[in-house]
Amino acid sequence: LIDFPYTNVLVLGLAKSGTAAANVLLANGKKVRVNDRNAVKEDEIVINLEALGAEVVVGEHPLEVLDKIEIVVKNPGIPYDNPIIVEAERRNIPIITEIEIAYSLVEGPIIGITGSNGKTTTTTLITEMLAQSNQPVKVAGNIGIVAIEAAQSLEKEESLVLELSSFQLQGIVKFRPKIAVLLNIFEAHLDYHKTMDNYVKAKCNIFKQQTADDYLVYNADDPVIVEAVKEATSKLVPFSTRRKVENGAWIDNTSIYFKDEKVIDRNEVVLVGSHNIENILAAIAAAKLDGATNEGIRNVLITFTGVKHRLQYINTINGRLFYNDSKATNILATQKALAAFTQPTILLAGGLDRGNEFTDLLPYLSHVKAMVLFGQTKEKLSALGKQAGIKTIEIAQNVEEAAKKAYAISDENDVILLSPSCASWDQYRTFEERGDMFIQAVHRLV
Ligand code: ADP
Repeated sequence: LIDFPYTNVLVLGLAKSGTAAANVLLANGKKVRVNDRNAVKEDEIVINLEALGAEVVVGEHPLEVLDKIEIVVKNPGIPYDNPIIVEAERRNIPIITEIEIAYSLVEGPIIGITGSNGKTTTTTLITEMLAQSNQPVKVAGNIGIVAIEAAQSLEKEESLVLELSSFQLQGIVKFRPKIAVLLNIFEAHLDYHKTMDNYVKAKCNIFKQQTADDYLVYNADDPVIVEAVKEATSKLVPFSTRRKVENGAWIDNTSIYFKDEKVIDRNEVVLVGSHNIENILAAIAAAKLDGATNEGIRNVLITFTGVKHRLQYINTINGRLFYNDSKATNILATQKALAAFTQPTILLAGGLDRGNEFTDLLPYLSHVKAMVLFGQTKEKLSALGKQAGIKTIEIAQNVEEAAKKAYAISDENDVILLSPSCASWDQYRTFEERGDMFIQAVHRLV
């Protein structure tokens, strides 16, 4: 562990990242105490950690677990009003997340990506662009791969691409990415961060430790970000979908450019959605700064149809284009998805009822010729469809049936789009499960 001058460490929360943190700390000779309220002594991970010398406290969060502790490694999901965290702050004990430990394991370049929306897509694009340019690369972080594990197996010449949530970024101290990417900042997660100011601050932690040798790729069209990056000391690399930017990535009616050089024709890009243009510009800037070639970038953009469940193209069956946007668990995401198409669209939507109305979808429904609705919100969405003057509105039991019904009422060149605008938990365990069911149903239509 580079530059980690602590001996007595408390690991709070035994999820995958907590276990990885405890293991690597023990392997580096640290004295590790672990505390998890939900774990029990008989759990295999508890037994394993004890065998390696950790002291494990389960079932409760007694404040004494902080005694003699010099630093706390907190699971990103644990809120800052947890009594142990409040007490640790009172005692001036630093609180970090797994990302900080991963950082002390890495000597090579790190590319960190954050934003309210588009993180996974941009992270995936950067990783693929580097791989297609024959640059060795690993991906980890909020994308579902524990950063410490990726960091431990990183080869010397490999770049590490890290998707970073605001929760993870709130717990960093020295973490310094060679290239930071700041996509956008919308109001989000205020239950956790309490105020918009805190949320912006957490996001901006991504460039706090950067120096003049590092790069900050930022969205020059986002006023919150433009204001925030004024404090950065790294080299600023803007991207914009609206105008030509000096030293950055931009787009006009025909092509996409990095600095003064054309990278690819606009119409060669297969990924749909104007929001994805932002992600592509950010990805091109970051990948180019880490040595990607135009050819490698092009290879990705002429084939990449989207991260699974995010406006993901599935198949064309008898001229009908099927898209899976199961990740769209709120109205904003469904607006983006609908805005991505101009041709007649059949919208498949519905799910958990959070008590909200869907009127903000109305302006986006002009090309929606039919709706197939399911889940708790089907009646509300049906009323909305009628208000929009949509003639064909059908109800289905689930997404499988919705796929069949949509196909039955469709014509050639229609888009059939699953973009539920609701969480999945009324009928499915996760949005991934819902999307997988839809994909399978589409494949069965062939
Ligand atoms: P994240 O990892 O930040 O959740 P994803 O790449 O998984 O982001 O995209 C999730 C959803 O967010 C997409 O389905 C889309 O609706 C929306 N989205 C993606 N990129 C952007 C963007 N640049 N601006 C606004 N919304 C976006």
